[in-house]
Amino acid sequence: MSAPEEPEPCRTCQEFDLDEAVARSEHDGSRETDCRVLRQRHLAADHDKRSG
Ligand SMILES: [Zn+2]
Repeated sequence: MSAPEEPEPCRTCQEFDLDEAVARSEHDGSRETDCRVLRQRHLAADHDKRSG
């Protein structure tokens, strides 16, 4: 069986995406960057890709 990579969007990622979009719409550059950093950290921690 081939395991599905991501059957459905990660809720945490969606929240970060939304937050980043809001920050961008408010021209809040620092907050936008913050969201990206946190998202990357979350990706590394929870989406731990063990690519061989
Ligand atoms: Zn995620």
